Amino acid sequence: MDNVTMADWPDTRQRARDMLDAFIPHAGAEYARNRGLDLGPGSHRHVSRLSPALRHRLVTERECIAAALDAHGQQAAKFIDEVFWRSYFKGWLEQRPQVWTDARPTALPDDRTLDAMRGRTGIDCFDAWVRELVATGYLHNHARMWFASIWIFTLRLDWRRGADFFLRHLLDGDAASNTLSWRWVAGLHSQGKSYRADPDNIARFTDGHFRPTGLASEAPPLSEGPPPPRIPLPRPAPLLPEMPAGLLITAEDCRPEDHAWPCPISGAATLAGSHLRSCEPVAPMVRAFEEAALADAARRHDGPVRTLHAGDPQVLVDWAADIGVRQIVTPYVPAGPMRDWLDDAAPTLDRAGIVLRQMRRDWDDLVWPHATAGYFKLKKNIPRILQAADLA
Ligand SMILES: Cc1cc2nc3c(=O)[nH]c(=O)nc-3n(C[C@H](O)[C@H](O)[C@H](O)COP(=O)(O)OP(=O)(O)OC[C@H]3O[C@@H](n4cnc5c(N)ncnc54)[C@H](O)[C@@H]3O)c2cc1C
Repeated sequence: MDNVTMADWPDTRQRARDMLDAFIPHAGAEYARNRGLDLGPGSHRHVSRLSPALRHRLVTERECIAAALDAHGQQAAKFIDEVFWRSYFKGWLEQRPQVWTDARPTALPDDRTLDAMRGRTGIDCFDAWVRELVATGYLHNHARMWFASIWIFTLRLDWRRGADFFLRHLLDGDAASNTLSWRWVAGLHSQGKSYRADPDNIARFTDGHFRPTGLASEAPPLSEGPPPPRIPLPRPAPLLPEMPAGLLITAEDCRPEDHAWPCPISGAATLAGSHLRSCEPVAPMVRAFEEAALADAARRHDGPVRTLHAGDPQVLVDWAADIGVRQIVTPYVPAGPMRDWLDDAAPTLDRAGIVLRQMRRDWDDLVWPHATAGYFKLKKNIPRILQAADLA
């Protein structure tokens, strides 16, 4: 695993763009044919590995889709579809944020769970994926599916703990894609449909590297109470154009320069929050990636940028006072740990007479309203969305 280092990951805008450009020639028929192959760490050449950049919005979904369409037209349909899964999950969770809250593990991990997290189950592929995840901060999509399925149906561990383990280690760890993918494997997202890790399928898509024995032969979908009702998509309150503002940059969107801020910007700050992903320690690689992505966003800002850490919310008040503003503006923060922190900070900001305003991307406004039910409802609307986004 020594051949995968932080330098391989797109933690700046330039690296993300270079990686996208290098992958685009492969994003057509070749991707559709080979994307399921997991050839192990250092050999994930059939997929883009852009997820950490997309998650931090060093590149955007729109940008990836535009580049793929430009190079391959309809041959890029599979790649485009996969990118839309991300937007779908974000929009779905936005309308059911309680699902994220309920996914937080409540009990401490027991010994069997700790063994699984240390890669000591005796199931060779599973233990290898633990090592890969911890060493590199990434797993191929197929490995994530097999891993989650073995965790839930063979090891019979709590899916919430597994999802939390992923969030602590994945560079692309995302409240929506991660929580909803774990729920999908468990049979809680598409209700009644779960995912069983099949040894032949694992052997085929790892090119014979693994052929595990002793996996659960059935995967009866988990059940829970009725899902929380869908709420209307939150509408961000409009920015106050006359009022000078402090620009807050979080890992939810490291390209604030894409937004047309209607108010004068008096200063900027980055706010690190990857430690909020879990009550347990988050991997140093995850924190380093966030730090690099935020530092890169700061370098692109014209003017000095303060470095803040999401601890005591008073840091926001003090920073706003230092730069003399009563408005803080930020690219939209979707459902997840940073949103939770900002919600908790709201009374402190209120008391100090500071308003926090968020600006959502046109892409999210176009796609998220379609994420009300299953993915296929959204998929039917992809041609219409692409047209509205000027991509068709
Ligand atoms: C249990 C489980 C947990 C997951 N947790 C996360 C997570 O925390 N963060 C995350 O970004 N993805 C998550 N995924 C989705 C998917 O595995 C990764 O996005 C993908 O493996 C990233 O690799 P890539 O960039 O090489 O993908 P590519 O195949 O090159 O796809 C291009 C982009 O499309 C998006 N994408 C592709 N597949 C999916 C998918 N199934 N769901 C959502 N978006 C997708 C990603 O942004 C990805 O970068 C999870 C999947 C499973 C099964």
